[in-house]
Amino acid sequence: QRQMCIRDSNNFIDHIASRIKFEQESLTDPLTGLPNRRHMEIFMEKFMPASRRTGHEFQVVMIDIDYFKQYNDTHGHLQGDKILINLAALVNKNIHSSDLFVRYGGEEFILILTAVNSEDCLPFLTELMIKIEKELQVTISLGLASSTMSDDFNQLLNLSDRALYKSKQQGRNQFNMAQP
Ligand code: GH3
Ligand code: MG
Ligand code: MG
Repeated sequence: QRQMCIRDSNNFIDHIASRIKFEQESLTDPLTGLPNRRHMEIFMEKFMPASRRTGHEFQVVMIDIDYFKQYNDTHGHLQGDKILINLAALVNKNIHSSDLFVRYGGEEFILILTAVNSEDCLPFLTELMIKIEKELQVTISLGLASSTMSDDFNQLLNLSDRALYKSKQQGRNQFNMAQP
């Protein structure tokens, strides 16, 4: 009877553990270990109302690696994967624990910079671009949208996407701010 009880509770613990693992995996990009898009959406659902309440401004930064197709063609896909992994680690090392760095898709990332206005984050982003180019030998283009521009996260994503497009069009390896 007692052994049955122990076995049942062990099964129960295993069940919960595998549920947690499953949940975590569904929110994580397997290559880089970064939170994925779904994770970001869940995070923002809580974060947007909280930051509205506190009145803290935050920034949505869309990041895309420049000429990455060409990088793969030249160095191979595995080396390309390594760049994505190392970029994830490098950015994570340089942001605050309250910020969020997300693999949005392919070679596209979203950086949520918390409690900072758009002007104050520009020196940080400039330094980050320099570090990435120096350590990984690739450049990135960025588009910024500020939380002051909209209460709707999807709208902020659209704005940062448009600003990123401008960075690409103007020659890459640069950032642009969204025009509200
Ligand atoms: P642009 O400067 O305009 O962004 O040019 P690009 O070549 O970076 O953009 P494009 O969208 O043409 O190509 C994206 C490339 O990113 C193609 C694809 O092979 C590569 N890529 C996407 N995901 C991965 C990945 O997981 N691993 C590797 N190695 N490459 C990836
Ligand atoms: Mg690209
Ligand atoms: Mg792209």
